[in-house]
Amino acid sequence: MSGYKRPTTPASVERQLRQEAGFGCAKCGHPYIEYHHIIPFAEEQHFRPKDMVALCGNCHPAISKLGRDKQYEIKQAPFNIEREMFQGALVYDKRHLLFRVGGNLYENVPTILRFLDIPIIACAIKDNQAKITLNLFFRERKKIALGLGQ
Ligand SMILES: [Zn+2]
Repeated sequence: MSGYKRPTTPASVERQLRQEAGFGCAKCGHPYIEYHHIIPFAEEQHFRPKDMVALCGNCHPAISKLGRDKQYEIKQAPFNIEREMFQGALVYDKRHLLFRVGGNLYENVPTILRFLDIPIIACAIKDNQAKITLNLFFRERKKIALGLGQ
């Protein structure tokens, strides 16, 4: 045990790799991704995006066995991009607001929790952003928090 801890991949490199792969595994499109060194970190300590690729936890362990040429091929033609799963910006359906509280799902319910006439937890879509309003009180109705936006 050397105590050596490999540095984490810089956030800017992760962002670039996610974007170029269409926000999914370059090989299968799975949305949970890890960052793979095509040129292994053990061989050269680098975080060069051109020699790295976004992969999921299923594809990552076996990818090196395919050889570097195949890995670069996968990087050049990511699953999500090839199948036009992703274009321009990450798009999601903003028509419905689904809010999960414990095991309960609230769909298009603007006030999740109300006490007397006071909304305690409320949510809405404004300017294409999901906004959550939380009203918390001390005793005697003294407000301690209001409007935790975004
Ligand atoms: Zn995968």
